[in-house]
This record gives sequence, C-alpha cells and structure tokens, in this order.
Amino acid sequence: MVKICCIGAGYVGGPSMAVMALKCPAIEVTVVDVSRPRIDAWNSDRLPVLEPGLDTIVRACRGRNLSFSADVDRHVADADIVFVSVNTPTKARGLGTGRAPDLAYWESAARVVAAASRPGTGKIVVEKSAVPVRTAEAMERILHAHAGDGAFQVLSNPEFFSEGTAVRDLLCPDRVVIGGGDTDVGAVRALVDVYAHWVPEDRIVTTGLQSAELAKLAASALLAQRVSSVNALSALCEATGADVSDVARAVGSDGRVGGGGRGFLDAGVGFGGPSLRRDVLSLAYDCERHGLHEAAEYWRQVVAVNEYQKGRFVRRVVASMLGTVAGKKVAVLGLAFKKGVGDTRESPAVDVCRALLAEGARVSVYDPVVSETQIIRRDTAAAAAEVEVTRDAYEAADGAHGLCVLTEWDEFRTLDYRRVFDGMMRPAFVFDGRNVVDAGELREIGFVVYSVGKPLDAWLNGMPAVA
Ligand code: NAD
Repeated sequence: MVKICCIGAGYVGGPSMAVMALKCPAIEVTVVDVSRPRIDAWNSDRLPVLEPGLDTIVRACRGRNLSFSADVDRHVADADIVFVSVNTPTKARGLGTGRAPDLAYWESAARVVAAASRPGTGKIVVEKSAVPVRTAEAMERILHAHAGDGAFQVLSNPEFFSEGTAVRDLLCPDRVVIGGGDTDVGAVRALVDVYAHWVPEDRIVTTGLQSAELAKLAASALLAQRVSSVNALSALCEATGADVSDVARAVGSDGRVGGGGRGFLDAGVGFGGPSLRRDVLSLAYDCERHGLHEAAEYWRQVVAVNEYQKGRFVRRVVASMLGTVAGKKVAVLGLAFKKGVGDTRESPAVDVCRALLAEGARVSVYDPVVSETQIIRRDTAAAAAEVEVTRDAYEAADGAHGLCVLTEWDEFRTLDYRRVFDGMMRPAFVFDGRNVVDAGELREIGFVVYSVGKPLDAWLNGMPAVA
C-alpha cells in the first residue's frame, strides 16, 4: 500500500487529500498540521472548510484510508509521497513587504521532511502550495543537504480549484499539472498513476518543474488580467455611451478571446478572494527578481486597475449622491468576494464599505452567508454603531438613500424592487457593482441606477464622475 502524507490541513490540503482518498481506496492518506485545533476540526462533525460535498467524502473515508493528525514527524517519516500544501501569504514585513510571498512556512515544512526521513530511504515530495518559480529547486537543496543526492525527488503539482466548487473541480478537473526534472521520470509516473485513478490521462499534463510552478501563478494572473481588462473597458464605455455587456458579448464570441465560452468577461467592481491579488503580485515580484522590470510593471498594472475600479465605483456613489454621503444610510447587498462562498478575503465589497464609512456614511450590510461578527469585527473594522447588519435586503434598504449591490448572489436579481423603493429615501439610488439588476425595470420604478460600464442614467450623466 502506498502511503501519502500531506503537510498542511488547510483549504487545499484537506479537500484535495479527501478526494484522493475517496478515489484511491488502496492508498493510505494522512493529512498533518502543526495546528491542533485544525486537526481536531477535521476529526469532528464541523469541518474547518465548508465546501459543497466535502462532508460526505470525509465521512466516507475518515477511519478507512483517510486520517488527520498533529503528529507531523511520524507520518512524514512513514510516507512514500509527501505533499506540501502550507500557506504562502504575502510578506507583511521585511524585503518585498506587500509583494513577495512569505516562504517561511514552506521552508519549515521542507525541513520537517528532511529531518523526518531515514537515511537510505527515498521520498517523492510534491509541492502543492503556490510558490515562485524555482522554489522546488530550493527544496531539493534543503533535502539533499540532509540526505545526499538521489534520496528525494521533488515535483510540482499546483492546485487550480475554485473556492465554492472545490470538490467538483477536484473530482472532475480541467487538467492536473505535474512538473518534474529530467531525473524525475519515475516519480512523475508514480504521481500520474495516482491521479489516473479518476482523471483521464489526456487531462494530466506533465511538464518541466519550472513550467508547472509558473502555471499556477500564470493561471491566476491571466484570470485577473481578464477582469482588469474588461473593467478598464467599462470606464471607457461609461464615458462614451457604449455598453460593456454588449462589447463583452461581441468580443467573447470570438473563439480566440472567449475560448468557446464567455469566460471572465463580466465587468464589475473588481476581483477579490484570497489568491488572485497575491498570485499576481508574486508573479510581478518574480519578474522583478529576475530584472524584468517592464514585465513586472505590466502585471502590477492588473492589480492597479483593480484598485482603480473599486475607487471609481466609490467616487460614482459619492458624486451621484450630490458629493456627500456623510450621515446618509447606504445599504450594501453582498460582502462575499463572489457568490456561493462566505469568504470576504480581499473582497471589493469590504473596500467599498470601508471607503463609505470613511466618508461618514451609515452602512447597513446584508449578505446571505457572511456572519455578523465577521462583517463588523474583521471586515469593516467598524463598531456596531457604524455598521448595521440585517437579516434581509429589505431591512438593509429601509430608510437608505442608496443601495450598492456588491456580490452577484442570485437573490439580488429577483428582489421585489418596488418594495425596496417604497422603503428608501428620495431620490433612491441603486449602484450595481455586479450588473445583476434589470436597470430598465428599476428606472421605471423610479430609481436612479448606476451599472458598471453601462450607458449612464440621465441623473448621472450630468454629474461629474469624481465627487
Ligand atoms: P491554509 O492557510 O488554509 O492552510 C495551510 C496550513 O498549513 C495551515 O493549517 C498551517 O497550520 C499549516 N502549516 C504551515 N506550516 C506548517 C508546517 N511546517 N507543518 C505542518 N503544517 C503547517 O492555506 P491553503 O488555502 O490551504 O493554501 C495552501 C497553498 O495552496 C497556498 O500556497 C495557496 O496559495 C495555494 N492555493 C490555495 C487555494 C485556495 O483556494 N485557498 C487554491 C489553490 C492554491
């Protein structure tokens, strides 16, 4: 029986190993973590990661061929294949602050593998964390310094799943990427054999080590770049009377652009989530480290346009509401960075809320999933008196001058906007940061409507774009 151990029982390690255990009953999979509370949660009925379908898989495999343990050294020592899936946040201090990934957790994991390995025994070590290109080489150096050449083979196998659909993406991935060096052919084959239990071989892409590492950052960067590209176009649409949805439809139907789908061409208030910004900045930093300043600047602009778009949205809100929101109630519908998740990390909605609060607005927030404690304590860093958290959209909008839609939850498409209007002050504004409302219908009700990248309402047309 092959034994697999994964270091890091987080958002990636837990679900990816649970699916591996489900699909490979003859493989013993152990997920280890230095955090005892995390391991306890994985062994309980309340898993630390909420993803549709994950509970059922963990329940089916836990105690069979899947286990979670805080005994890191023992399980790493026993394993034939060790995945490293630790966190790589953006550095908060020192060189590269706010740009470079912090590799401290990753290096500590490499040292655990080196220390836990017995002389003469080999292991395949698989990098799953999002890391700068050539990090696997650095890992090889640490391992070989301990055990001599040949004892370890280091592969790269980045994870591409999306939050909210992690289990579906893991069960049926678009592709699995496995990178290895010239001398790693046997190790690559061994890992391909593991995935081949459930992934068709034509979807398992084998590459060189550096290419696989770069593929992860490149995937994030290209997705983010698409969003920033369409958002940059949305600004020009507003200035010229073009409709960004029509432009995106016209452009996205070109197979070279849309790739058969419309993919990631929806304009909005900006991208968010834990990975995109961090991965783009990490890619830019990597370019910079190699003296590729123009390339670095190009990727940084993707993040800069995202910031611009959030700022532009807030300026529209303030300018439309006669240049001030001080003392006015503004309802915010949606705080999660996208529909289907309760995650508010890097959510544009959080930045919009903070900016409105800084302008002196009274903000009332409704999100169908995000909890009140999270909204007030962590996200807006505001006192309960400044931010009201409501049980539904109608309560949030009651007595408000303006309403901002900031997450594309389906329920915001089908609200009874007549009822919303009746509860609001006049003029009643809707600022649609996700283009989910039917602007024509809302205008008939009496709202002044702003939709990102769409022809401007007569009210806004006469207003400056900047407060
Ligand atoms: P996470 O913070 O949820 O989990 C990482 C875990 O690693 C933590 O529980 C931490 O305690 C543990 N850890 C750190 N150092 C350790 C050590 N030396 N020994 C044992 N445990 C250790 O992180 P995550 O979201 O699972 O992300 C892991 C990697 O995968 C990151 O590089 C991330 O960029 C990448 N990634 C994340 C996603 C996502 O949606 N979250 C998607 C694709 C890739």
